[in-house]
Parts: sequence; C-alpha cells; structure tokens
Amino acid sequence: EREAKIRTEELEAVHRRINKFNALHPKNMIDEDNLEEAIEAFDMGQEYNKWVSMLTANMHLGPDYEPLVSEGVQHLNKIPIIWLELADCTGNSEGFIKSAHPKIDDLILQYISLDYHELLMAASGDQSESVLDSIIKNDAGKYILIVEGAIPLGMEGKFLRIGAKGETGHALLKRVAKNSAAILAVGSCAFDGGVVAAKPNPTGAVGVSEALGRDDIINLPGCPVNPINIVGTLLHFIMFDEMPKLDEKNRPLWAYGFRIHDNCERRGHYDLDEFVLEWGDEGAKKGWCLFKMGCKGPYANLNCPLVKFNEGTSWPVQAGHGCFACGAGKIAFDKYANHRPLEEEEDE
Ligand code: SF4
Ligand code: SF4
Repeated sequence: EREAKIRTEELEAVHRRINKFNALHPKNMIDEDNLEEAIEAFDMGQEYNKWVSMLTANMHLGPDYEPLVSEGVQHLNKIPIIWLELADCTGNSEGFIKSAHPKIDDLILQYISLDYHELLMAASGDQSESVLDSIIKNDAGKYILIVEGAIPLGMEGKFLRIGAKGETGHALLKRVAKNSAAILAVGSCAFDGGVVAAKPNPTGAVGVSEALGRDDIINLPGCPVNPINIVGTLLHFIMFDEMPKLDEKNRPLWAYGFRIHDNCERRGHYDLDEFVLEWGDEGAKKGWCLFKMGCKGPYANLNCPLVKFNEGTSWPVQAGHGCFACGAGKIAFDKYANHRPLEEEEDE
C-alpha cells in the first residue's frame, strides 16, 4: 500500500511538472489540437500508441507512465530549442528530419519546436541573427541548446566562422550556452570531436564539454544519433525537470547502458564460433557473426539493436555491416573503424 502511495505521488508530481508547460506558448505551427488531428488524419492512432509504449519502455519507465509520456509528447512544442551546427556533416540534422513517409516519428519530430536551426529555418543573414538574439534574451534560462558538430579550437577557432559577422563556432557556442536551461551534445563530433577530431586533428577540434570546460553537458553520441534518443531525453526533461541518469561519460543510461553485443541477433552465432570470414561467403548468407569482419559490438554501448533506425526497420548489423562503436567517440574513427578484430581485448 505504501509503495502504491509513493507511486501515485510520483505520477502526480510528473503530471504537475508537465502542466507547468501550459504557461509557455506553443512555438510551432502544429499545436496540441492539430497534433491529434494530424495523427487522426494520417490514421496513425494505433501507430502513435505503439510508439508511446516503445518510448516509455525504452526510457525504462513502467507502463503506468504511458499516459504521462503521451501528455509530455503534446508539450514538446513548448520548449524553445536552439540547434547549433558547428563542424559537422549535418548527419544528425538529417537523421532528425528525414521523412520518407509521414510516419509517426516524422510527425513528432516536426512538432518539436526548433526555433533556431541554421539548416531548417527560413530566415537568413541578419534576420536569423536577430531570431537567435531574441531567444537568448527572451527565453533566457528556458531554452534547450542542442549542439551538433565539433568545435575547432586551432588558430583561435578560426577554422570555423559562422554568420555575417564571422563569429567563430567557439564564440557562438559560448554565447548561446550561457543562458540555456540544458545542453545536449548530439552525435559523436559534439561528444568528443568524433571524426572531425580524428588523427591528426588538423583543426584542433574538441567536443562541447571540453570547449566549454563544463561537466554538465548531456552527451548523445552516435553517427548519427538515433532521433529517438533525442526525443526521449527531451521528454525526460519535460516530465521530471531534470536530465536522465547518466553514465561516466554523461550519456543517458537508458539509451547507452546496453552493450550492442548483448542485444545483437547474431550473438548466438558468436557463441557457437560461427563467423563471416569474407564478404558474401556462406556465413554472410546465413547471417553469422561479423566479429571477424571487424564488428566492434562487444566494445560498444548503445541501444541500436533495441530501437533500430528508420521507424524500427533495421540497424547496421542486421543489414550486414559490423558496428564500429560510433558512440565511443573519436576512438571509433581513429581505431575501431580501421581494424578487423582488435589484437588485444579492450573496452571503450
Ligand atoms: S555481429 Fe557484432 S555485435 Fe553481433 S554478435 Fe557478432 S560481434 Fe557481437
Ligand atoms: S551499430 Fe554501432 S556503429 Fe552503427 S550506429 Fe549503432 S553503435 Fe554506431
């Protein structure tokens, strides 16, 4: 009985927290009512419910949280978000906005209020600068900063200049980070420099945490990050007024607490010593383990096999390509991607 009481109080607290967002105005074109309308119009009611169940389970919340997760989703368009693109390939933005068919992920992602995103916003030049300045000023302490890409520090940051005034990426990051409620570093480059910082790292690129000298950055590495991990982290913030529990690299445990190798559908073949030894061989045709072809699943912690990509269709190892532990950051590009099995056992 005591446990049930604590549980009820917990759920009520989350509910109160979500309701606080009613005080903020929706920033996006789709509002709460027409999110529901859009779900109905595309006949996605069932798909939406399944998506909410999947997300709730992935966030390691019990089934009684499902209505609250759904309620939280309705408020995703009320948090102002600034998305900065620094030294990157735009892969995380593309992963976030990809739209093959109007599937539920796409709809939710369009619903999120990306108030400033150089790639996506209609404004440009001075107009976009003033949008940014106004969010920094008017939504101080409320907006979430999402950063994609590494920060080149070489030559005083001059390898990356952005905007009409030629501000360096580093200066821009510091300016926007100052008033933000929370910072998410998405993708491996924002985590620790990733491929941009791969040897010999000519631009002196580093990740967000190092560039800002802060240890409170939420890291969502991946190449690209799975959009579901961004949505889950934002939802956690809406529901609990705090970021999720993190591992020692500041990555949310609910997404990065699992070893790829332990959830891989080819794992049975690994245990039976059944390996692909050459691309296209019999083992490859039978879906055997890719370890000897360079798969680094045993050294990688991420939820790819659990949530998969493209609306849960598949993930790299299922499609026949070894994992190179992209979520481990630049070591994946310096070392893991270039070696078949590592000579000595080592962990990320
Ligand atoms: S394919 Fe990779 S992740 Fe899957 S079992 Fe083999 S080594 Fe592990
Ligand atoms: S399978 Fe491995 S390399 Fe591919 S996205 Fe997942 S963690 Fe990154």
